[in-house]
Amino acid sequence: MEKLLSVESARTIILEKFKMKNSVLLPINQSMGKILSKDIFAILNLPPFNNSSMDGFAVLSENIRGATEENPIELKIIEDIAAGTAPKHQINPGQASRIMTGAPLPPGADAVVPVEFTNFSDRYYQKELPSHIYVYKSVSSGDYIRPEGQDIQVGEKIFSKGHLLRPQDLGFLAAQGFGEIETVQQPVIALLSSGDELTQPGETLYPGKIYDSNTITIKTLLESFGAKVIDLGVAKDDLQDIKNKLLNIQTLHIDLLVSTAGVSVGVYDFIRDVILEDGNLSFWKVNIRPGKPLTFGEYQKIPFIGLPGNPVSAFVSALVFIKPIINQLLGIQEKLILHSAIIVEEIISDGRESYLRADISINQGNYQARLASHQGSGNIFSLVCANALLIIPAGVKSVPKGNEVNFFWI
Ligand code: AMP
Ligand code: MG
Repeated sequence: MEKLLSVESARTIILEKFKMKNSVLLPINQSMGKILSKDIFAILNLPPFNNSSMDGFAVLSENIRGATEENPIELKIIEDIAAGTAPKHQINPGQASRIMTGAPLPPGADAVVPVEFTNFSDRYYQKELPSHIYVYKSVSSGDYIRPEGQDIQVGEKIFSKGHLLRPQDLGFLAAQGFGEIETVQQPVIALLSSGDELTQPGETLYPGKIYDSNTITIKTLLESFGAKVIDLGVAKDDLQDIKNKLLNIQTLHIDLLVSTAGVSVGVYDFIRDVILEDGNLSFWKVNIRPGKPLTFGEYQKIPFIGLPGNPVSAFVSALVFIKPIINQLLGIQEKLILHSAIIVEEIISDGRESYLRADISINQGNYQARLASHQGSGNIFSLVCANALLIIPAGVKSVPKGNEVNFFWI
């Protein structure tokens, strides 16, 4: 029997060919989902100044100690401080300034009395700046003030290198004033599908044809891992047509060329021949199920991965082999997080390292796994029904019901 390359060895051979990409300065509004190429430290205190957290009056808290509805304390209003303006006057005893949420606290003041605690509780009652107000309730020093640097102070670390930017991260960097962000260059992958039987969705399906599902699945999957994907279209099962589709490959400046289908042992499988004409192959079979005909090499010095054509095989191979490549190109150190589930039925395997589509649920606090739909490598519905992949290690032919098996979420 042939000795197949283990999944781990194949991955090691593949990953040796890739290193982290250089960094690029991107406008912040193009940085969503990008990876930071270096640590980022605060360059601004946030909030940048002491400011009011309420609409009200900036006061000296000592001045209004003991104020009640029965015994209100009168203050003279000296200034109106709207958000976005800078106060001009110092608050002295017996004085207050009207202040809006987010406006800077004037010098001398040490607290804000919300309008609700005064005779101006209804903001429509008087838009004009009142000359005097009555305070009905006292506040303590610091009340309703957001002090400068409460959220973060200059020099504190915000993010580590390798962090993936989320909407709230962009908001925080915007609040810090960063207009551009140093990110890792996005990996670029060209994707070529192949097969005479393929028809594009939306078009008429003629006898013997099937719709192309790999292109959209693999393209969006690789995009979800952080790559930019250039779609080279579908090549016919024809040596020359495949070569034609790859004619401009050097001008695309890609990190990886990926093909689907045409790499097994069928007489119309020409992808490998094309690669060998102007490149080399390291391996073309891996001890994995589904996805045995996984092919790795180089085409015109560009790393090349040939994914099997069966949709489930292509999907699983992209997860197991291409995601780690993209992570490495992006400098992401993420390890696959494995959990363990009890299987509700016996699982029969063929001794290859198997990635089975499963539906994981929780039963009495434990994960339990049930195989999702039919497990054939062409049956993409199993991927639709699954929320996880179970990993059956190489060499294992059967796992009895009730045993634990590792899985990861998909
Ligand atoms: P191959 O590797 O070319 O022998 O293809 C294996 C199986 O995958 C065949 O049943 C093909 O019809 C199917 N297949 C190949 N490419 C695609 C695709 N883009 N979308 C859906 N099925 C495909
Ligand atoms: Mg084919």
